[in-house]
Amino acid sequence: MRSFVKLMAGAAMLVSMHTASMAADTVVGVSWSNFQEERWKTDEAAIKKALEAAGAKYISADAQSSAAKQLTDVESLISQGANALIILAQDSSAIGPAVEKAAAEGIPVVGYDRLIENPAAFYITFDNKEVGRLQAQGVYKVKPEGNYVFIKGSSSDPNADFLFSGQMEVLKEAIDSGKIKNVGEAYTDGWKPENAQKNMEQFLTKNNNKIDAVVASNDGTAGGAIAALDAQGLAGSVPVSGQDADKAALNRVALGTQTVSVWKDSRELGKNAAEIALALAGGKKMTEIDGVETFDGGPNKVQMQSVFLKPLAITKDNLNLVIDAGWISKAEACQGV
Ligand code: BGC
Repeated sequence: MRSFVKLMAGAAMLVSMHTASMAADTVVGVSWSNFQEERWKTDEAAIKKALEAAGAKYISADAQSSAAKQLTDVESLISQGANALIILAQDSSAIGPAVEKAAAEGIPVVGYDRLIENPAAFYITFDNKEVGRLQAQGVYKVKPEGNYVFIKGSSSDPNADFLFSGQMEVLKEAIDSGKIKNVGEAYTDGWKPENAQKNMEQFLTKNNNKIDAVVASNDGTAGGAIAALDAQGLAGSVPVSGQDADKAALNRVALGTQTVSVWKDSRELGKNAAEIALALAGGKKMTEIDGVETFDGGPNKVQMQSVFLKPLAITKDNLNLVIDAGWISKAEACQGV
């Protein structure tokens, strides 16, 4: 019996050495869509750290908000020897051929944060509908009636509609009863703050500044909307939502110009995605990934193997959570308060 146990332990060691050496030879290519945005730098650091810990190599490219560039980026990552890909899609449809190419070469793809509706890609993200609910709840708590505007995300990112559907779930009753009026709703091209600001300026003009609440879909667009409110002397008196727990946004929460951000600990997302990419490159099946579930809530109802992480709303009342978690220092969060 003892020798059997020893034998098994030896075999397990061989297996784990084998996995480790495989990971050590693995090159993971990460294709970013819009790396200039603050949050992706945290994601990148987490991915790099997990790959380094496994002895694997990180290579990357940034599409700079161009769906066309992202296609050539992925090709270039493949030609540089990527054995697995992690893709933050700029455009969920346009990225299709790149995923097909990787699949044809047996290279696993992890769709990172944003849905790529192709069963050849694994899908890891936060529960985006829940993010939308938290955004709407945060604003609704402060302003349960009046004129609402919706600063939505990029129309080429399925997250924009997941968020909006979560927001609507929370607000539908009040909208149907007429307590809340939707007086403006627009996608934000490329999620760019300057586009959000322009849309917000138009909504303010159209409504003679009579806007009571702003449901903005992330912190960048919240920043744009708040700049437009500020120009009319309204920053701080109109509740605004966001997401990502960006440093500037957490500071605005402390200062009172932004009501709520949603914290998605991207250190966890990055770590998990890197480990999943390595596992898939090492031959593990998608259905064998820890915590995997089937998701078919995309526009085309494609069944995807997925992992979902949990988001958390951050307001003035629980700012200490992100400070205690080492996400931001107290000095940074509370600057100027
Ligand atoms: C992500 C957000 C991010 C946005 C803009 C979304 O897909 O989920 O965290 O703020 O893209 O980059």
